[in-house]
Amino acid sequence: MAVTQPLLELRGVSKHFHGGGIFKQGRKVQANKQITLSLAARECLGLVGESGSGKSTLGRIILGIEKPDCGEVLFQGVNLYGKDKTAIREVRRDLQVVFQDCFSSVNPRRTAGASIAEPLNNFARLNLRDELRVVGELLELVGLKAEDASKYPHQFSGGQLQRVCIARAISLRPKLIVLDEAVSSLDVLVQAQILDLLSDLRDELNMSYIFISHDLAAVAHLADRLAVMCLGEVVERLDNIDDINCLTHPVSKALLAAVLPAQPVGSSS
Ligand code: ADP
Repeated sequence: MAVTQPLLELRGVSKHFHGGGIFKQGRKVQANKQITLSLAARECLGLVGESGSGKSTLGRIILGIEKPDCGEVLFQGVNLYGKDKTAIREVRRDLQVVFQDCFSSVNPRRTAGASIAEPLNNFARLNLRDELRVVGELLELVGLKAEDASKYPHQFSGGQLQRVCIARAISLRPKLIVLDEAVSSLDVLVQAQILDLLSDLRDELNMSYIFISHDLAAVAHLADRLAVMCLGEVVERLDNIDDINCLTHPVSKALLAAVLPAQPVGSSS
């Protein structure tokens, strides 16, 4: 029987930093320690943990922008830190990111349309007519209007601007998007709308997500599987998100306890 290659595979990835400041000089911070994990096509892995547990560092390593000290990162079988630069450039268009702070993710002096068109123009030169058409289609795909292409970032709400960032991230039809705290700065109602949008887009465009968050409730909305991080290590894994209440590690339990109950405490109905 043929074995399907995972979309993403991390093998024994470690990364350390040297602490800064006059008192911390020389102190070693082990941001990621011997991390091994894999992700299949169309799967969403939730990467959760408290602040400082190494989630974003791992996200940057997966994106190919933070070289690990050791270990391998294989994306579609290509070692992102290997020697084959042509193959790396080719697969990197299938790897995109959406950050938490949408306002600093876009240039305030460029229109939404120009920001969305940037990755398109990096990989395929489009004429102006095609660029306008594709940008308009992308804006509609994320629930905005084609005319919004001419607006500047300050003319959008936080939720709308995050939709613009999502439109930019999906512009090259990537296979994997790293969502780094992508809904954390939005209020609860807008969060739910963006999570629904991400869920729909994943089905429509056959994408996979690595969803980095400290918010287990948001992750549970989208993820199929979970990896819980603590002090740079994956301390617990969950293969089925429906078993979320069966998490046992103290960090996992603390994250679960931080999720607000569905009903206010003391509510009778
Ligand atoms: P998280 O995303 O879970 O909050 P991070 O990956 O941002 O965690 O950070 C993990 C640890 O690595 C933290 O102790 C952080 O201070 C440290 N760290 C991250 N990036 C750097 C850097 N560029 N230089 C020094 N230390 C860093």
